Amino acid sequence: MKELLENRCFFKLVCGAGNESAEDVRRLVKLYSDAGCEVFDLSANYEVIAAAQNAKYKCVSVGIKDDPHILKAQINSKCINCGNCIKVCSNDAIVLNPANIISKRCLGCKNCFSVCPVQAISLTSKEINLKETLPPIISAGIDCIELHATTEDEKETDKKWSIINQLYSGMLSICIDRLNLGNKQVITRIKRLIKNRAPYTTIIQTDGIPMSGTNDSYKTTLQAVAMAEIIQNENLPVYIVLSGGTNTKTLKLARLCGINYHGIAVGSYARKIVKEYITSPNFWIDKKLYNRALVIAKDFLAETMSA
Ligand code: SF4
Ligand code: SF4
Repeated sequence: MKELLENRCFFKLVCGAGNESAEDVRRLVKLYSDAGCEVFDLSANYEVIAAAQNAKYKCVSVGIKDDPHILKAQINSKCINCGNCIKVCSNDAIVLNPANIISKRCLGCKNCFSVCPVQAISLTSKEINLKETLPPIISAGIDCIELHATTEDEKETDKKWSIINQLYSGMLSICIDRLNLGNKQVITRIKRLIKNRAPYTTIIQTDGIPMSGTNDSYKTTLQAVAMAEIIQNENLPVYIVLSGGTNTKTLKLARLCGINYHGIAVGSYARKIVKEYITSPNFWIDKKLYNRALVIAKDFLAETMSA
């Protein structure tokens, strides 16, 4: 995986830190591996890691309290079954009559929360015990652990980072954005977290706007590139990977802006363009359907990396 970063051709397919649907992950890994992707971002869930056994490189995502990547939605009794939420859920995590959330499919994107007319939806962090969850996952064979550290809680960030460092000696990644933190706090935090780590053993995933990659436009990807520039200006011994609203335009824009990135992580947009195939009951048996999906995934990868 280090070689991909050194050669600046690192592409990571983000299955979703909150995506605990093992079958979806199995299909995404099969399709994007066949399309040429080698790195996959996976939920810290043993069943999911097992489903991704064909991934060449596995990166496991964990988060601190209130980070959007580990939020899960719940619906309460105020619900009037209007159906607004189901229309905006990108991962089919909501069923109606009565309205309910399928927790293992919920990615914490908050789309449903924004459209509910009666405030019947709340989101809470699904925290895991790192000391219990990570050891069996590490033993199963992984290549990176990523900490989503976007909230203001420095103490909690340090605590989780310290546990991860104690448990795992391989490549680590810090996924960070500017929604809650100013530029100065982002840099101060990163410098503190990498202080005791060897040079180039840490990826900084410059998250623009998490889970916002629904359109293939320059505007969507602007924040990811801006965030990368802030990190680059510090000349830190880290790898820079862009994420959060990434699409086929991201690396082109980054190059135009003079960013010497090492790679890109794409989630929402990469999943969206193949969703109808991934969710098809015929995914494993209809060769023609699979090949159509494969062409879409291959074209997307080629276009994204052609910058
Ligand atoms: S819209 Fe987002 S937050 Fe709401 S249930 Fe779907 S994935 Fe979860
Ligand atoms: S948007 Fe709110 S009220 Fe409408 S179905 Fe969803 S949870 Fe119920």
